[in-house]
Amino acid sequence: MDTLVSLCKRRGFVFQSSEIYGGTGSCYDYGPLGVELKQNIKRLLWRDFVQSRADMVGIDASILMHPTVWKASGHLDHFTDPMVDCRECKLRFRADHVDALPWTHYCPATKGNKFTIPAGEPCSHCGARRTLCPDCGKGQLTAPRQFNLMFKTFMGPVEEDASVAYLRPETAQAMFVNFDNVLQSMRLKLPFGIAQAGRSFRNEITPGNFIFRTREFEQMEIEYFVNPRDAVEGRPADEYWHDRWIADCMAWFRRYGLREENLKLREHDRDELSHYSKRTVDIDYRFPIGWSELMGIANRTDFDLKQHSKFSGKSLTYFDEERKEHVVPYVIEPAMGVDRAVLAFMADAYVEEEVRGEKRVVLRFHPELAPVKVAVLPLLKKREEIVRAAHAIRADLAKQWRVVYDDTAAIGRLYRRQDEVGTPYCVTVDVQTVGDSEKGEAGDGKVTIRDRDSMAQVRVPIDALPGVFHDLLGGGAWAQVAARLERQIQK
Ligand SMILES: [Zn+2]
Ligand SMILES: [Zn+2]
Repeated sequence: MDTLVSLCKRRGFVFQSSEIYGGTGSCYDYGPLGVELKQNIKRLLWRDFVQSRADMVGIDASILMHPTVWKASGHLDHFTDPMVDCRECKLRFRADHVDALPWTHYCPATKGNKFTIPAGEPCSHCGARRTLCPDCGKGQLTAPRQFNLMFKTFMGPVEEDASVAYLRPETAQAMFVNFDNVLQSMRLKLPFGIAQAGRSFRNEITPGNFIFRTREFEQMEIEYFVNPRDAVEGRPADEYWHDRWIADCMAWFRRYGLREENLKLREHDRDELSHYSKRTVDIDYRFPIGWSELMGIANRTDFDLKQHSKFSGKSLTYFDEERKEHVVPYVIEPAMGVDRAVLAFMADAYVEEEVRGEKRVVLRFHPELAPVKVAVLPLLKKREEIVRAAHAIRADLAKQWRVVYDDTAAIGRLYRRQDEVGTPYCVTVDVQTVGDSEKGEAGDGKVTIRDRDSMAQVRVPIDALPGVFHDLLGGGAWAQVAARLERQIQK
């Protein structure tokens, strides 16, 4: 994890938020490369799960919603953690996490010397166990109190109870409260889904592990509505579609490079299920911190639509033409934390290998995820024709892809830098490309493409580059594309 965090900062993926002021608790900023990676993930999610499907539509709702939404959803009453406070230092802890912390102890058996004792263990001198604040070691802890995780604010100029608003703790509710708007305006038939990608906020007391758990985060959630009275392949429609979504989401992560051995499904136990859920399955990923949730796929039944119908007084049903009856659809909810996906894709892509006795760090990103697709590098930055040709190539390719130019080091070092940020291809412009006008030698107009993973190179005419990258970045394998180019060159 430390290796990744340091790479993220050094190469412009992720920075601590407001770092020059000492940082904001558990908030992070995406840098120039991080924003590209994150946008690529969101774009692919949207393309693969919304645009390419006939049964999906999207919305983009506001973060501030009517406060009653959170009453109806259960967040006001149930979205809480039991907290204890230290009466001395005022630090706040999750009651169920206190014993998982190392604790500070002033030991009476050693004239009050201060020790830090591993979580859950007694003092090896006096045998005492922790009863006081684990941090300062002096204060009594209060009895547990329920603490709501929603960020509270005020709408309008007056800070009074009537104007309380909350930053949404999840994007899902907007799909439920817009259910009828979307259904009527788009004339949809069940089953269909509504997707949304956007920010959510949770005032986590013990956030941590870099961008794994943050107070402000980005979600992509899908609410997929099905008719609970329908059957598909002999099974209730909601159960069938739940399994379909689990399989589709797993396939999506594999498609963009997460390795099979780092992914697994985890079924929630009965007592772990949320109050609205019939069944929930997590896709867990082997993060550097261990196996943890990357995505959850829940069968939320008709709970949400019924709740919002009850609290708003509006009917949120679907008219089943065949059976001539109104039904409240069941909903399957695939919910992903985009920041966690960023972390997973980075962790999975990270490789250290030895090349000719030197360590090479590579992010083996799928080309569609890579923040930069192509880097154009001049072999000699003192030769004006080379530099000019390289800039022209960059400008031309940049019409279609994120392409950068770099001449701030020798070529070997420039390659390593691009490897380290996962750029799949480099284009090198050299003396042969432009020739030597003083000696009257014409250039061959060809440049070298270097493949990140194999480090193999192939020489191609400049005007062939857009076509070649169209193939390579559109899913073509390097070995095949390079072999075809070699054959063309030999002809
Ligand atoms: Zn304390
Ligand atoms: Zn002791």
